[in-house]
Amino acid sequence: MLRELARAKINLTLDIKGLRADGYHEVSMIMQTIELADELELKKISSGVELSMSGGENIPTDERNLAWQAALAFQKFCGKSLGVSISLTKRIPSAAGLAGGSADAAAVIRGMNLLYELNLTEDELCTIGEGVGSDVPFCIVGGTCLAEGRGERLTRLKPIKNFSVVLAKPRGEISTAWAYKTYDKSPATIHPPNETIIEQLSCGNYDAAFKNFSNVLEGVALKKIPAIADCKRKFLNAGAKVALMSGSGSTVFALTDELHVKQIAASVTDAQIFITRTF
Ligand code: ATP
Repeated sequence: MLRELARAKINLTLDIKGLRADGYHEVSMIMQTIELADELELKKISSGVELSMSGGENIPTDERNLAWQAALAFQKFCGKSLGVSISLTKRIPSAAGLAGGSADAAAVIRGMNLLYELNLTEDELCTIGEGVGSDVPFCIVGGTCLAEGRGERLTRLKPIKNFSVVLAKPRGEISTAWAYKTYDKSPATIHPPNETIIEQLSCGNYDAAFKNFSNVLEGVALKKIPAIADCKRKFLNAGAKVALMSGSGSTVFALTDELHVKQIAASVTDAQIFITRTF
C-alpha cells in the first residue's frame, strides 16, 4: 500500500492571452502549491481500476473521476495492466479554483510510478498528466511555477516558502468552462505583469510583487458570486498582504504572516474557511 498527498494550488496570477485554434485558451499563470491536500491510498490489484471516496459530495466515483482517468492514462502509457485500487479522502473543496481534481490525478500518476517501481521521469509523468487535464502537470511538479500554453508548459520559479494562507470558499460553484466562455465575450483590459512579478519574486521583493498579483477571471466570477468581493475586502481590512481569487473561483486566498492568520480567518463568517501554508 502507498500513501500520496494531493496538494491544492492557488493562482498568484492568471492571465488569458487568447483563444487557440484547438479550442483551448492560451494562458500565463503563476501557480503556487499549498499544504491543503486530499489523501490517497493506492494498492496493486490484478487489473483495472477501483475507486472509493470519502468526502466530496457530488463528485462521481466512476470513470468520470479524474483520479480514475489518471490511472487509465497511466496504464495506457505503460501498455501494461498495472491494476490499482484507489482510496481517496477529499478535503479540497470542489469546483473552487484550487485544482482539487487535477491534484488527485497527479497524485495517482506519481503514486502508480512508485507503487510499480517504474522510475518514469518527471517529464514522462507530466506527459501522462497533460492528457488528463491542463493543470495536472503543474500538480505533478508543484512548488512555484509559471504555467503557459494551456497550462502544461512549466517554468520553475524561486519557491515562495513560509507564507500562511487563508482560504475562503463562498457558497456557489463556478465551472471553469463557463468562466472561460463568459470571459471571451468581454476580455479584460488590464493584465498581470507576469515578467515583472517573476523578477520581483526572484529578488524576494514580495511586497512589490503582491501589489501586481491579479486574475483576469475575477470580473467574470464576481458577476455570479458577489461574495468574492466581500471576502477580498474583509481579508485586506484584517491585514492580509494580498487577497485574490484563485483560478476560475470561487475561492479567495489571503497571503499573510503568522501573526495575522487568526484575525484574517475570523473576518469572513459566511464562507468555508481553511488555514494552510504555501508549500
Ligand atoms: P481548477 O482550478 O483546475 O479549475 P477546480 O478546483 O475549479 O479546478 P475541481 O475541484 O478540480 O475544480 O473539479 C471540478 C469538476 O471536476 C467537478 O465537476 C467535479 O465533479 C469533477 N471531478 C472529477 N474528479 C474529481 C476529483 N477527484 N476531485 C474533484 N473534482 C473532480
